[in-house]
Amino acid sequence: MSAVSAALILFAVSSTGAAPASRNPAASSATHLKIGGVEYVDARVFLARLGFKAVWIERGRSLRFQSAMARIDMEADKRDVVFKGLRLLMGEPAVFRGNTLYLSRIDAEKLFLPILSPSSVSTPPAPVLRVIAIDPGHGGQDTGTQNKPLKLDEKAFTLDVANRLRALLVKQGYKVVMTRTNDRFVSLADRAEIANKAGADLFISIHFNAVGGAPLVRGSETYVMTPRHQRSTGSPLRDPSDKVDNPGNRNDPWNALLGYHMHEQMLGKLGSVDRGLKRARFAVLRLVNSPGVLIEAGYLSNEAEARKIGTPAYRAAIAESLAQGVRAYAQAITTAKR
Ligand SMILES: [Zn+2]
Repeated sequence: MSAVSAALILFAVSSTGAAPASRNPAASSATHLKIGGVEYVDARVFLARLGFKAVWIERGRSLRFQSAMARIDMEADKRDVVFKGLRLLMGEPAVFRGNTLYLSRIDAEKLFLPILSPSSVSTPPAPVLRVIAIDPGHGGQDTGTQNKPLKLDEKAFTLDVANRLRALLVKQGYKVVMTRTNDRFVSLADRAEIANKAGADLFISIHFNAVGGAPLVRGSETYVMTPRHQRSTGSPLRDPSDKVDNPGNRNDPWNALLGYHMHEQMLGKLGSVDRGLKRARFAVLRLVNSPGVLIEAGYLSNEAEARKIGTPAYRAAIAESLAQGVRAYAQAITTAKR
């Protein structure tokens, strides 16, 4: 905290009520801070323009934003926010200054704005969805994670869920391209290449998780590409690679919108533990030209969750939740184009 305080530079402050309405509440916000090279905007000003009223849950620490559409709980020094009951990970922690909370401008523009008001995003909306790439994680000699006592391999379940999802999406009228349709090894770069060559409008990578020595860890998480100039959820520190402009960064706001809808539908359908909407520069997300998402549907290292994943009914539910997520995302980008 003290290092952050020392680096605080207040370079513009204005009254909060008088600013004109704008298509981009983050860009037009006149109340900015710069802390350690990161630009922040007043969360209350930004969210007020999207119809939110703020009340303190704990003064100086956690702030609740409420609108007709959503409730958002944000806490000082934390990257986690609770958004409509879901766990979302910001790229930078919220900071408390001058009787309000600030959030990073990138989180405002590339996380909250696309979810709350897709038509306000300045980069063009993603094209109409026609072609969807499904990427069943691992395959061949790459088994992925395993539950050895139960004899469960990730690679088999990713393909099974992918096949189920393909059937549902084809029924909805989409053209579907698979990065593999049988038990074979496909490199990460080739997976992105297959999607890009097919002109995919959307990329969905399916995985299951595992962690050694922590058998109680379970739940579902959703990853999207880390926005440019931010660090990934798993990175405590910034890194020079944060500045690289990857193909996956063309769709930063739309990645967030896609990830949000996939996460919301998956958690709603499975009722699993919410491990959050997170960001990572996974190779497949870095290299795809379309909006992309990587799903970690559950933990094979947790016995109860592994047993569920081992049942066709649960894998069908995962596939249905992902198809619902696609539907919700498609609806949201249609709204954005009006
Ligand atoms: Zn995996």
